[in-house]
This record gives sequence, C-alpha cells and structure tokens, in this order.
Amino acid sequence: MSWEENIRKVVPYIPGEQPKSNKVIKLNTNESPYPPSPLVAKAIKDYDPDGLRKYPDTEATELVQELADTYKLPKDRIFVGIGSDDVLALSFLTFFNSKKPVIFPDITYSFYDVWADLYGIPYETKALDDDFNIITQDYLCDNGGVVIANPNAPTGAQMDICDIEKIIAYNKDRVVIIDEAYVDFGALSVIPLIEKYDNLVVVQTFSKSRALAGIRIGAAFGQEKIIGYLKDVKFSFNSYTLNPLTIAVGAAALRDDEYFKMITQKTVATRERVKKELRQLGFSFADSKTNFIFARHESKSASDIFEALKKQNIYVRYFKKPRIDNYLRISMGTDDQMDEMLSFLKGYLNG
Ligand SMILES: *Cc1c(COP(=O)(O)O)cnc(C)c1O
Repeated sequence: MSWEENIRKVVPYIPGEQPKSNKVIKLNTNESPYPPSPLVAKAIKDYDPDGLRKYPDTEATELVQELADTYKLPKDRIFVGIGSDDVLALSFLTFFNSKKPVIFPDITYSFYDVWADLYGIPYETKALDDDFNIITQDYLCDNGGVVIANPNAPTGAQMDICDIEKIIAYNKDRVVIIDEAYVDFGALSVIPLIEKYDNLVVVQTFSKSRALAGIRIGAAFGQEKIIGYLKDVKFSFNSYTLNPLTIAVGAAALRDDEYFKMITQKTVATRERVKKELRQLGFSFADSKTNFIFARHESKSASDIFEALKKQNIYVRYFKKPRIDNYLRISMGTDDQMDEMLSFLKGYLNG
C-alpha cells in the first residue's frame, strides 16, 4: 500500500496571475488601483518592532473595536481573520456539518467548492438564470447551509435585499453566509439583518474597497452565539492569526472613512463611465455593483481579446469554465489605465 492512498487529495483554487513586471496594467484580481489610506503608511512607520517580540492579541481588540465603531455593533458580534478567505474557510468548517448538501450558485466565487471538497462537505450548485441572476426560489429548499456572494462574483450582479431576506428567513434552521466582498462599491449590505436572524453570517474584506489585499484582513458579522462558535473553531486551529502590525494597519484604515469613501466613489464613477464605453464597443454585461465588469463581446471571442490584451501588457481575467468561457472579468483600474485599455480595444475591435 502506498502512503498516497491515505492522504487528503484536493484540487486547489487557482488565483489570478501576479506578473512581476510593473509595466503591466493589472485588471485581473480586483485589487484597488489606489494606495491604502495615508493613515496606513503612518501606522507602519510608527510601529514599534518591540511589539513583535510578544505573541499577538488573539482577539485583535484594537481592530475589532474599530470595526465595532465603524459598523455600530458590539464587539462580540465581530470576528476577524487573515483575509476573508480565512474567515470563509473557518466558516465552512464551523457551520457546515450536516449530511445534507450546502447550496450555492453554479457561477460564483470559485473557492466555495474547493473548501467544501477540502472538508468533505456535500454541496449542490443552483444554476443562475440566463442573465446571471440568482433565482431566489432555488434556495427555498431542504439543505445543509447556504452561501451567497452579494454582489456575486464574477458576474457583479446584486441581489434584491428582500430576496436575500427571504432566503435567510426560510433557512432559519441552518446557517446562511452572505459574502459581501464587493458590497462597498454601491451595493446594499445585509449587516442590519443580523439583529433579526441568528442564522446569518455576513463576511467582508479589506482587500478590495480598503486597498489592502496584501495585508490580509477579513471580518465576519453575526449574533454573539454564532460568532462564538466560529471563535471556538478558530481557537482549536490557530489562535495567533493576525499579527500586531496587521491589527494596527487595519485599525488605521478604518479610522480614515473619508479616504475610504473617496476611493470607492472614484472606482464607482470609473465603472459607470467604462460601462458606457464598453457598450459602444459591442460588449454586454450584467449591471455590476462591484469594482469589475464581467463582459462578453458581440463578435470577438473572450479568449482572443484576453490574449490580445495580454500582448499589450494589459491583464484581465478569463475563466475557461462552462457558461462563462466567453466572458472577461475586467477590474476597474485608474481612469488612465482604463483609457489605455479602451483605446487599444477600439483599434483592435474596429480595425
Ligand atoms: C476577493 C474575494 C474574497 C477574498 O478576499 P480576501 O482577500 O481573502 O479577503 C472572498 N470572496 C469573494 C467573492 C471575493 O471576490
């Protein structure tokens, strides 16, 4: 017998490319094109490295307190982790322990099925409709838990809050996770529903709207009881996750609400302008409420456009997967970066 028969084998999640060259216009991983708040630079400069001698605060109190103030929630309704990937992975491990399948859309964040497979959680996907909308009715069924990204990725489409509430209310005997990675770009958060539903967990990230993908901070919001279960699993796995510098940086970013609003509004304005320009070039897409647009072209194939852009050092994301293999996911860069992409596309598509 080979040792290979006894090990856990999984097919890993594939992140977007991170090219080394800084000549690249990088529109492939939904990072912010703007730097983090100047308060972040200050927090790093002022950080006393003697703090690294000791183990970190397992409760990340400074960061959690700042989140509590920002979201007007008590501290015990907040959980933090190393990016929302960590928070979501721990949530799958904690909340999905049923023999019944967990349900999520067929087209969504491609880490969900990876975590389910890793933990041996049974799951079923529910097809989006032809316009890439989530069909509420599909989630009103017997299941082992529900996961919905809102706005969804990579489609960018937002669900109606009333429909999300219907799903949370129907599934009151199991946990519903709403992944709000992109909610700060003009969508509505379901955080206010926490008060009403003890089965709801809302997950957010600092990676996109707070321009901090590199520092790795994510958060979950829910009632004390459900957050308590999440903490129990976290403390059974790795107590010391967020390091003190990360905690200081995250808290500093939250203190600069004005800057946060400025960069998210800029991205929204860029997105709305790029939508118009892409439409004129023959692209169509769902109405994105995120920092990206998921688009197909009326005549050119997505893979051809993807390769042509890459030759120009413009990286966008292309998923070779059923139903979406003729779409490109284009992250919003600065206005100048988007203009460079648009001007190339004009020549390429009309020439
Ligand atoms: C980016 C993203 C995440 C994870 O982001 P982190 O950098 O790990 O916080 C989670 N869910 C969705 C839908 C995302 O797009």
